[in-house]
Amino acid sequence: MIIAIDGTAGSGKSTTAKLVARRLHYLHIDTGAMYRAVALAVLQSNIDPEDRSAVEELTRNLKIRLRQSNGIEVLLNDANITDLIRNSEVTAIASKVSSYGGVRDKLADEQREMGKNGGVVLEGRDIGTVIFPDADVKLFFTADIEERARRRLHEMADRGEEVDYDTMIADLAFRDHADSTRKISPLKKADDAITIDTTDLSIDEQVELALSIVSDKKKLQQSVKE
Ligand code: C5P
Repeated sequence: MIIAIDGTAGSGKSTTAKLVARRLHYLHIDTGAMYRAVALAVLQSNIDPEDRSAVEELTRNLKIRLRQSNGIEVLLNDANITDLIRNSEVTAIASKVSSYGGVRDKLADEQREMGKNGGVVLEGRDIGTVIFPDADVKLFFTADIEERARRRLHEMADRGEEVDYDTMIADLAFRDHADSTRKISPLKKADDAITIDTTDLSIDEQVELALSIVSDKKKLQQSVKE
């Protein structure tokens, strides 16, 4: 199966995607990590993130790999950058460069290649709408912005980065707006996606709900075959 999980930052899609993939013995493909890898490459090359053609040219020659270990390890030109891509600076640049067509085309090709044989959970913003519009299961994760900000602050505190609550709310609102209003592949619920609002759900509940939707779909597909 191809399972597509899209949604806003902090909606719980990454954690759920990881755990659902683990339970099903599927590959977990975190497409946001790939945009973050491009952002880090931009930073490391001292290219102006606003310079679209320079960023697109740089991206064309990048080798980005997701290696499955305990979690996902992100490799940029064979260097392990997993611990370098979650800070605020990279996050802001990732949001910028993800609006460039040349960047999206290159990463989209790679995502389709990784997912084409099935047995995958892909998560991002445009999986169910653009990357795999025929995915077997499409989930769209949302949560109230206040709850998403609290979750992100916890994650960042765990990594030793301090951000205040109001700044985090502003950052999430800015990214939601940028991601959902960009011209190419905006963040959008696919018409046939199932919305999961995680505001009041525990991680276990999110995972069980997602797995039960997957299991229902499997049964449906089997009954159609018979
Ligand atoms: O999911 P994550 O927060 O790591 O994604 C970082 C950024 O990458 C997002 O803010 C978004 O701009 C971009 N992104 C995207 N399309 C995807 C995944 C992420 O545009 N499929």
